[in-house]
Amino acid sequence: MRSRLAKMGEIAGKGMVDLFAGARDILLPPQCPVTGEHVIRHGELSPGAWQDISFISAPYCKTCGLPFEFAASPELICGACATLESYANSLISGKGLDKVRASMRYDDASADLILSLKYADRHDLVDGFGTLLVAASRDLLLDKVDITPVPLHSGRLRQRKFNQAALLARSLADKTGSDLILDLLERHRATPQQQGLSAKARQRNVRSAFRIREKYRTSIDGGNFLLVDDVLTTGATLKECARVLKKAGASQVCAVVLARVVKDDVIAI
Ligand SMILES: [Zn+2]
Repeated sequence: MRSRLAKMGEIAGKGMVDLFAGARDILLPPQCPVTGEHVIRHGELSPGAWQDISFISAPYCKTCGLPFEFAASPELICGACATLESYANSLISGKGLDKVRASMRYDDASADLILSLKYADRHDLVDGFGTLLVAASRDLLLDKVDITPVPLHSGRLRQRKFNQAALLARSLADKTGSDLILDLLERHRATPQQQGLSAKARQRNVRSAFRIREKYRTSIDGGNFLLVDDVLTTGATLKECARVLKKAGASQVCAVVLARVVKDDVIAI
């Protein structure tokens, strides 16, 4: 049974996309977005491209998903989660996110791939990304959740024409049969780009930038939510979305992203 929230929202639907897929494959044979080699389906990566991507797999922190460089129990949590360092430094806190998962490290190889979706309209990548998100969020989907994307401000949405997080969230929901609420959160305050800002500055930058849309405000209490975004740098944006949901009574808020910065992998985003 679909959740009440999802029924109220914009439920993912399949249009006539499949109808045109065959014709597209004949006119534009599928190519790997990284190497340009021929592949079977659009958005698929060739074996050569996979070699360059640093996928995140166990062992990792049970809560924030930080990959460990040593063999570890699935129950182990990292130092930041264990001590709940300052809110700026810890992804996890009582105020927001409960668990975080990521498909890959954010580095030069994955940045090329992800930025091509964001800025080069490579929507053919979404299906493959969705498959990666399914694998990364498997343990977060054991309980029933409502999947929702990190929203863009309406001004930026008009500029870019699409929200890459919404495309990813839709793909994840389609592949898992989970409920999707595309418009649960609203970015009502335009914020400067986070690029180049410190963790604390990023946190200040997104403070009070999000709110729950009016029609959902009385329906959040006790709910489980899975936020979806493309990249996690310090987690400031995801934490702020989670804080807003928790304040409205959400019971659990987790997040899954395509790529996350890990320790020394910090590069400009
Ligand atoms: Zn951790």
